[in-house]
Amino acid sequence: MNIPKIIRRYCPKCRTHTEQKISIYKAGKRRGSARGERRHAERKHGYGGQKFPKLAKPAKVTKKVTPLLTCSVCKKKFNKCGIRIKKFELVAA
Ligand SMILES: [Zn+2]
Repeated sequence: MNIPKIIRRYCPKCRTHTEQKISIYKAGKRRGSARGERRHAERKHGYGGQKFPKLAKPAKVTKKVTPLLTCSVCKKKFNKCGIRIKKFELVAA
């Protein structure tokens, strides 16, 4: 699916339509020292093996892509609703 790099859209901060740049949201790097990660490691310790089901095969064939909009006037970033697409491409429109 082709996604335009720049769109004209309503900015809730500027309260008017502005040009907004689209990039794709990427999850940050996982920290091993984060609370959830430490808890997971703790629970996997000792007798009993794997505590959480490992996905044998994923239920979905596609991944959600979240467009991240950046207002060119106020530089504020907004997340758009994620869409399930197999392949995407940012195109100049
Ligand atoms: Zn704005």
